Amino acid sequence: MASKLTGGSFLLKNTNIADVFIPEEFTEEQKMVYNTVKDFMLKEVHGLGIAKVAGLDAEKDKDLVMEIFKKASALGLCGVSVDEKYGGGGLDFNTALLFTEGLAGGFSFATTIGCQTSIGSLPITWYGTEEQKQKYLPGIASGEKGCSYCLTEPSAGSDANSGKTHAVLNAEGTHYIMNGQKMWITNGGFAEVFTVFAKIDKDEKLSAFIVEKDFGGISIGKEEKKMGIKASSTVQVFFNNVKIPKENLLGERGKGFNMALNILNSGRIKIAAGGVGGMKFGMDKTVEYCKTRIQFNKPIAEFGAMKQKLGIIAANLFAIEAGVYRVGADVDKKHDELLKNARLTDAVGQGTSPNEAKINSMREYAIECAILKVLGSEAMCNTGDEAIQIFGGMGYSMETGVEMAYRDARITKIYEGTNEINRMLTLAEFYKRSFVTKELKMGDAKSFIPSTILKNFNPFSGGGFLETEFEFVNNLKAIFLIITGAAGAKLKEKLVDEQEIVMNLADILSMAFVTESAFLRVKKLSEKPGMNKAELEVKTKMAQLYLYDALDVVRKSANNAIDSYAKGAEKASLKYLMRRMLRSYNINPKDVRRQVADYMLEKNGYNF
Ligand SMILES: Cc1cc2nc3c(=O)[nH]c(=O)nc-3n(C[C@H](O)[C@H](O)[C@H](O)COP(=O)(O)OP(=O)(O)OC[C@H]3O[C@@H](n4cnc5c(N)ncnc54)[C@H](O)[C@@H]3O)c2cc1C
Repeated sequence: MASKLTGGSFLLKNTNIADVFIPEEFTEEQKMVYNTVKDFMLKEVHGLGIAKVAGLDAEKDKDLVMEIFKKASALGLCGVSVDEKYGGGGLDFNTALLFTEGLAGGFSFATTIGCQTSIGSLPITWYGTEEQKQKYLPGIASGEKGCSYCLTEPSAGSDANSGKTHAVLNAEGTHYIMNGQKMWITNGGFAEVFTVFAKIDKDEKLSAFIVEKDFGGISIGKEEKKMGIKASSTVQVFFNNVKIPKENLLGERGKGFNMALNILNSGRIKIAAGGVGGMKFGMDKTVEYCKTRIQFNKPIAEFGAMKQKLGIIAANLFAIEAGVYRVGADVDKKHDELLKNARLTDAVGQGTSPNEAKINSMREYAIECAILKVLGSEAMCNTGDEAIQIFGGMGYSMETGVEMAYRDARITKIYEGTNEINRMLTLAEFYKRSFVTKELKMGDAKSFIPSTILKNFNPFSGGGFLETEFEFVNNLKAIFLIITGAAGAKLKEKLVDEQEIVMNLADILSMAFVTESAFLRVKKLSEKPGMNKAELEVKTKMAQLYLYDALDVVRKSANNAIDSYAKGAEKASLKYLMRRMLRSYNINPKDVRRQVADYMLEKNGYNF
């Protein structure tokens, strides 16, 4: 039977709410994981006082940073993604995302733990042999050994496969000898174990190695002086004839680049999860300030201009949160499905190994992970910017910590693949899955698009709860499919060079996915017995606000794309169709934003 769990398939069908996980369904146990890490960050990092935290520096304050790292290790925070068998917490992926959200109050220290539990340890967790896991994972899980992921080089950033670091097998065939240089390595200042991507001999593709600092020949550069995440260690790492036992080759020779990308899929959605945490933290702080700062004899919370900002932050937060945990649960379900199939086929020796189940379940959702990385990082940066604006001059002062949050957030648009690369990847993955691997059945779109277009020549039905909204969601999907199909037919392989159009298309696809996630969340909530009416109302409003703004993004992106490649009759008919499908959405955005903001003010933040 064909799997229902196919990444990108949201585009070609209506998703059933029964198949969607929503954040309101987290169990008490999962919430406990979240509260443990959140409380730790508030006590051990935030508790140092903002002035102290804002001044922390990875070089100067290394001892303090290491002391917090040790305390986090003692609490088990360093091993959450490592299997229990090797001393870790063995969290499923969605709980690991919730854990990442909980890190947010730790400012740059969140990056330290984030790296240890994600890109630092996942290469061995997902690709290691039993011996490699037994040797390295217990130390990583206990925090005794810091770990790093070394892909980027001075001349190889986005073009990561072009790295010059190389390894050759020695004459005895016992060791690889590695030479080269890596740059921007998080946790590199204290790591003991490095996953290093390098080319063997004259290979065109990267391989991966587990490299211990104690192998000798490794030198570590000075801590980089950065715009933000200053307490997070970021260094260059130099390899000078480093002797690596040949059994430390990780995974297969020449498969390192695929491995690097898969690890980044997980890192990408974790950026969005961290963004959700950051936005919640930002919302709580801005709400508090809005209520206490008096100007013109009243709290600034009473000004519409401030409510507008709170409303926008809340809507972004709600929708991205819906997308993140929807995908996190899908990854877990896919993982379980792959393992189950493996058990069924193991008898004939064709099973999926536990490693492959982890890798392939993540790879399945590459489109969604890239979408969420882009939107999550941009929403978080926007929140930081607006938080400074709400705090006015005090936001610009180092005293409040708001400027630090703004600076810390900025890196998320750059690492784990820049947002430009992730937008391109969104579309490239869509094409690959549709036309090369054919995992996405484009035939399904043939029934989906005409029914959507047909509806647009009748008034919106608009009768039932959220009916209009789901029609809009379908229109967003159809617009993506129509313009992408038409642009692809006209430009063929030249489309990849028309990056501006690719960016426009990625933005339309992203809006379709996250808007749908927001409304699926509301719809599912509306069917939950005993759902609090006021909460449901405000959540519905946040989803509506997200749609309202998404329609503007899509109008602009679709116009840009069409005007950039189409001409004459084709252009006229695409524009006509677009106008019909993106008709005005009949809500009063000012009133709805005010209502959402008032709820946030009443509850002292995004507290559900
Ligand atoms: C604080 C920090 C921590 C980091 N941690 C790690 C780590 O732990 N491990 C690690 O391996 N790396 C790490 N990185 C590196 C990070 O992943 C890279 O900086 C990132 O991938 C971008 O590479 P680059 O800086 O070389 O930029 P470049 O690749 O030079 O990009 C410059 C600009 O050109 C654009 N661009 C590049 N190629 C294209 C293209 N084909 N089409 C269109 N536009 C393009 C980019 O989007 C960007 O806007 C870290 C970086 C920082 C700053």
